[in-house]
This record gives sequence, structure tokens and C-alpha cells, in this order.
Amino acid sequence: MPTKYIFITGGVVSSLGKGLAAASIGRLMESRGFTVTLQKFDPYLNVDPGTMSPYQHGEVYVTEDGTETDLDLGHYERFTSTVTSRDHNYTTGKIYESIITKERRGDYLGATVQVIPHVTDEIKQAILKISKGVDIQIVEIGGTVGDIESLPFLEAIRQFRLDVGRTRAIYIHMTLVPYIGAVGELKTKPTQHSVRELRAIGIQPDILLCRTDRILPKEIKKKIALFCNVSEEAVITAKDVDTIYEVPLFLAREGLDAIILKNLDLPYRDKDIADWTLVVDTIRKPACEVDIALVGKYVEYEDSYKSLNEALAHGGIANKARVNIHWIEAEGMENGDLRQQLASMDGILVPGGFGIRGVAGMIHAIRFAREKKVPFFGICLGLQCAVIEYARNVCGMTDADSTEFNPQSSRKVIYKLKELEGVESMGANMRLGRYPCLLEQSSFAHLAYGVTEISERHRHRYEVNRALADDMVKKGLRISGQSPDGRFVEIIELADQLWFLACQFHPEFKSKPLVPHPLFRSFIAACLQRRSQAKR
Ligand code: GLN
Repeated sequence: MPTKYIFITGGVVSSLGKGLAAASIGRLMESRGFTVTLQKFDPYLNVDPGTMSPYQHGEVYVTEDGTETDLDLGHYERFTSTVTSRDHNYTTGKIYESIITKERRGDYLGATVQVIPHVTDEIKQAILKISKGVDIQIVEIGGTVGDIESLPFLEAIRQFRLDVGRTRAIYIHMTLVPYIGAVGELKTKPTQHSVRELRAIGIQPDILLCRTDRILPKEIKKKIALFCNVSEEAVITAKDVDTIYEVPLFLAREGLDAIILKNLDLPYRDKDIADWTLVVDTIRKPACEVDIALVGKYVEYEDSYKSLNEALAHGGIANKARVNIHWIEAEGMENGDLRQQLASMDGILVPGGFGIRGVAGMIHAIRFAREKKVPFFGICLGLQCAVIEYARNVCGMTDADSTEFNPQSSRKVIYKLKELEGVESMGANMRLGRYPCLLEQSSFAHLAYGVTEISERHRHRYEVNRALADDMVKKGLRISGQSPDGRFVEIIELADQLWFLACQFHPEFKSKPLVPHPLFRSFIAACLQRRSQAKR
């Protein structure tokens, strides 16, 4: 079957949840037995989001092949079986980088290089690049219709349908239908304007996803259909829901997947979504709950820890528990009363991060976890802080530090990766993506994974200083995971605790609601155990 394409655009305002809608459509198509892949185009000029602050753009999601991508790719992987790569996320910067390289090489044979056709051709080739063997490819265009930046992408997808034919590509446009309390009415005008904008550049949407806080009444749907030139059944309510995992189920109830099949002229196949429904039921009716302190530096903006947030929820699903995450700003922990903030917690997690801000607070929190035997989970910077804490407070290396924070330290327990010495540029200069790791028998890690060889995704510039870590082993630190050549420390543990584990990689990128990550599953199990002990 030749690949069919679903293009998703957004209008009126940003943050309507286009990424989740794309991922949910992917889920629904997979549950009808089609193979899917998802792709995102971002109209900004950065080559990738790797150099952007989490406050600007939320989390940087890392793929298996080590590409730093938009956080929507995380939704794609969590909702479907798609494994994303560098070819699944393009920015304007990346498209232009490729064109300029070709131009310098002389590939254009003297032609004047222009937005149309060169940029649009480049975009169309990027779309086709991941289509092989896939039934349905879902392509999300970032930004909002009407932005100058997104025009080349919209032009490219307009041409694309012309190239492949009407039944092989459809356009889904997501808009906002606000409820104005003062008059007690749902307003369709923003949707009308947004669709008009889209039609002005030659794209007639086939389906409208209307984000709203209530079910759209029939007459509103009728009005939108009439003004926007779409069929009434193709006006879909995308109502706010309690959990993001409910979105596919809600959209299915609205009949979205059936309309997509019809529009794309796809054969009807039964839908099997029982496993997903079970996930949502478990989230809605958990058997117990657990309180986790997340001591990080970007906590006021939850999108900065998107995958982590989800992975903790998955750990909860695996244990039929609701995970209440208490976001604690590490900087405020430096001098604060830890007991007051942490005493009622069943577990403490220190996530990844860059730069010195908040590190002292994280080290304080880790010491608290170790001394009070509260289950602790450290991720990337969290591992580095745990090593510093142990070196300083248990091994007597009072000056122990990471060269990221104190290059003058006499005990550089964490230092820059050898291959990065002398490299000052920031873009894509890290140990990135998947690397294998060997686990030690009967460690917390081994018990969680159930195997001794794993592969996880990385994103760091600094690493554990092996020589000093080996000294620390004599004082009780356990190195339970390392690279097969023994060069990199990947996991450390404290065996005399209920659960105390920190890893250099980011396990959160590989957790899914249907397949919760082993480390999150076992961390939450330990936290529940601690909770029941504390109650007794
Ligand atoms: N800043 C640390 C490093 O670069 C940790 C990075 C992270 O937590 N992702 O190694």
C-alpha cells in the first residue's frame, strides 16, 4: 500500500495540543492495524532545540540516534510504536543548513536558489525520506497558521497533495473555540478566521479539531462546517480531558478515526484499543498514591521535565498508584529547612540539568535521602550530584566537585568527557543517544530490568572520574552499571538503602504508558513500600 499522509496544522493560538492530537491519531491508526510514523516540522531558525533553554521550548527530547528534538517527539514515541530519529524532526534552520551546504558544493548547477522551489522541494524530500514501508505518515507543522515563518512548510504540504494525489493526503487543522462566559456563548469566529487564512494559501482543511472546554453542540458544528467549507461530521470536538492519555479515546468517540479512514480511502479495519483503555482506567481509579519530591531547577515550567513527568506516571500505572509530584525549586533548598519540605515525601528524585544554579540544594536533598533512607532516584545531573555528595560527606573528600561547577576542585569526581576537552561550541556537542550498559548481578538495576545488558539514551558533557569513583567503592558506593569497555560509570547505587539509584542516562525518554520503564516501576514500588512502612 502506498503511504498515506495526514498533515496537521494549528490556528488561532499556540499550545492547543497539536502534538498530542498527532500522537493520538497515531495511536488510533495503530489500533486499527496500520503502521504509522510521525514527523514534526518546526519553523524556527535554530538547527535543533539542543541549544535552547528549557524555559523557551520545554524539554529537549533525545532520540535513539542521539538527535536533540522537539518534545512532541516524546509524545509520538509514548503513544505509538514509532521510533524517531534525526529524520523525524526538521527545523527551518536544519532545512536551510542542508540547502546552503548544497549551494556551496555547487549542486544547484548555477541556478538562483529560492524558497520556491528549492526550500519547498527540500521539505518535500524530508517528508518522503521516512515514508518507506509505512501505511500512514502523520506530519505536524509547528507554529500557528498566519506566522511568516511557517509559510514555506505550508506551501510544501500544499504542493505535496498535488504531487501524490487527493486520496493520499489530508489536512487536519486544529483551532480554538472559546467559551465567553459573559455572554454564555461558544465563539466560532477565531476558527473561521484561521481557516480563511489557510484557504488563502491554498489549503482547504478536510477535518477540524476544535479545542474547547465543552462538547460542541450540533448547531455550532453546523455553523463551523458551513463557514469553513468542511462536512459537519468532520468538525470534531477536542475537549479538555483530565489525562493526556484520554485524548485518543475521546477523539475516537467523536468518530475521528473513522472519518480519517474515509477521507484517505483506507480499508475499514476493526479497532482494538482495550490495552489503552485499561491504562486510562488505572490512571482514573488508582488503588493507592505516592508523594515524590522532584528537586530540580526548571520546576516552575513543567514542560521542562515532560518525559520525566510522564515516566513517573507510568511507574505509577505499573503499581496501580497515583504519583503526586511535588515540584521543588532546588535553589530554594540551599538554606531552607529540608525536613519541612521533604519529611512527608515517599521518594526524592533529582533530574537532569545544566549549570551550577540549584546544585547545592540538590546535594542537600540527596544527603537527606541517604541519611533518612528515603528512596532516591538521580538522573544525569542527579547522578553527578549524588557522587559529589557521597564523596564529600562519606568519603571525606571535602573539596569534591564537578569541573562544570568548580574547575579548581582538588577532587574532580565529575569532569568533562575526554573527547570534549578544548571543545567550546555548544551545538550537538555531548554524549548523545543510545549506548549499551552492563549491569551487575543482583543490583537494584538488575532486579528492575531483569537482564544484565541494557541500552539507554544519554545527553551529557561530564562524566564520573573512574579513578576517584573506584576509591569511593571501597567506602560503600556501588557501581552497578557501566559501559561494556568499563570506561563510563552508568549507574551507581547504595546497597544498604531501600532503593538508592542514580544513572548517567535518561531512562525517562523510553518509558511508555503501555510499557512503563523498569527503573520508574521499581522506584515507585520502593516509594510505596516506604510509605506503608512509615504508616505502620
Ligand atoms: N550538566 C551535566 C552534564 O553536562 C548533566 C547533564 C544532564 O543532566 N542532562 O554532564
